[in-house]
Amino acid sequence: MHFQTDRSGTSGGGLLSNIRGFLIDLDGVMYTGNKAIPGADRAIRFLEEQGYSYRFVSNTTRKCRQTIANNLSQMGLTIPESLIFTPAIAAAAYLKKTGRYNIRLLVTGDVGRDFPKYPPPKKNGAELIIVGDAGEKFTYQNLNAAFRALLEGADLIALERDRYWMAPDGLILSAGPFVTALEFATGKKAVLIGKPSRAFFDLALTDMGLQPDQTVMIGDDIQTDIGGAQDAGMRGVLVRTGKYREEIVKRSAIRPSLIINSIAEIGEVIDAAHQMQWENKP
Ligand SMILES: [Mg+2]
Repeated sequence: MHFQTDRSGTSGGGLLSNIRGFLIDLDGVMYTGNKAIPGADRAIRFLEEQGYSYRFVSNTTRKCRQTIANNLSQMGLTIPESLIFTPAIAAAAYLKKTGRYNIRLLVTGDVGRDFPKYPPPKKNGAELIIVGDAGEKFTYQNLNAAFRALLEGADLIALERDRYWMAPDGLILSAGPFVTALEFATGKKAVLIGKPSRAFFDLALTDMGLQPDQTVMIGDDIQTDIGGAQDAGMRGVLVRTGKYREEIVKRSAIRPSLIINSIAEIGEVIDAAHQMQWENKP
């Protein structure tokens, strides 16, 4: 299946008729482990030269934005902090929007730095229990404290609810299993902040000043990145790096617009969009 073949407004500063920007996942797309994907930095410079907007959308909840930017820079990837969107950044926006500052964080690392220092919580008003990928902070004691607060009226916020991720020493549990445990015990449903929530993508789209149909999402997770992007009205391009596995893509009902070997092939994405040769088949 092809997208519409109207190629009339493809002039205009070398930009495509409709595609104006990119949302790009970090882990598995720009780097794996602590190594940059070959050609990743050049791909971003290329987008810049061609006049496309871009933002990075990551489900990482163990590090603050500044630490993420520093780590990327150590890998040779020059990405300004302000272009990086994480669930913590989105959560801070959510708190501001809802005016709910009575929060308790169940996280690890330095991600707490992305949460503004609010005045001490008032006793009245339901608390928000905010759960990220807390790693070894997921102790029985911490989970039980969260469980009791939820029973006493607090609401549950999931920064992400991924099942697992690839750490240097193998697969490890992410926030999802623990969020699900708290939901199971309390009968409450968590509000999801990170990918694939629509509000998360919208935050980055609004920052670029673009609509979903003007934007391509590039990711290595068929479900969260590609499925999430398509549900939000964007096109999704899958890379064969990071957590990409051919069998998972074959079994999935989600069909990326395009599959590329890596972010280094960004030029092919632009060519495909230009020639309207988007495929809905892997
Ligand atoms: Mg990824």
